[in-house]
Amino acid sequence: MFGPPGSGKGTQASRVAVRLGIPHVAAGDMLRDEVARDTALGREAKPIMDAGGLVPDDLVVRMIEARLNQPDARNGVLLDGFPRTVPQAIMLDAMLARRNEHVADVISLEVHDDELKTRILKRATIEGRSDDTAEGLAQRLIVYRQDTAPVLEHYRAIGTRIDSINGVGDIDAITERIMKALKHNGAAVRTA
Ligand code: ADP
Repeated sequence: MFGPPGSGKGTQASRVAVRLGIPHVAAGDMLRDEVARDTALGREAKPIMDAGGLVPDDLVVRMIEARLNQPDARNGVLLDGFPRTVPQAIMLDAMLARRNEHVADVISLEVHDDELKTRILKRATIEGRSDDTAEGLAQRLIVYRQDTAPVLEHYRAIGTRIDSINGVGDIDAITERIMKALKHNGAAVRTA
């Protein structure tokens, strides 16, 4: 599940994962959990996350690899917030290739910047996430354009199926748009 901060990736990924019967693997949630448990990784990640930056690739890749080794991941997972840089994508592709697996589909949620800002500032008042500030968001959008948007080009270049989905509108309607796009992709739905 791919898209800018505030695009609804987490919301849609958890719904779509249930529909596909596979785990929702959310890098941001896993990192926030490390912070909450005050682990070594959490202590390293927290200041970076609060500033809207990206946690170092090798740390995130190791965390995701450990998650993919869990028994419930053997029929595939829905990744959310990972890979977030081209080096992460290259490491993910290599990790999957070693398992005779691959990225079956990229769902790209499309939401324009004004809507992103409105949503994140609203979420700040509800969830109180420490990175949901005006400065944090501005920085995350810069990082998204610079480091994360190229991940989509990476998958386009290697011929991975990309489903661009309009991420504005009713939450249920967006989930249905995604499910409809996946239906046309045997590879993604077969793993369910
Ligand atoms: P959002 O998509 O709204 O920015 P996330 O929960 O996906 O929220 O991510 C929150 C923060 O966690 C990011 O700004 C970043 O600091 C860190 N993070 C999440 N995923 C990654 C990743 N794959 N690589 C590096 N840092 C990450």
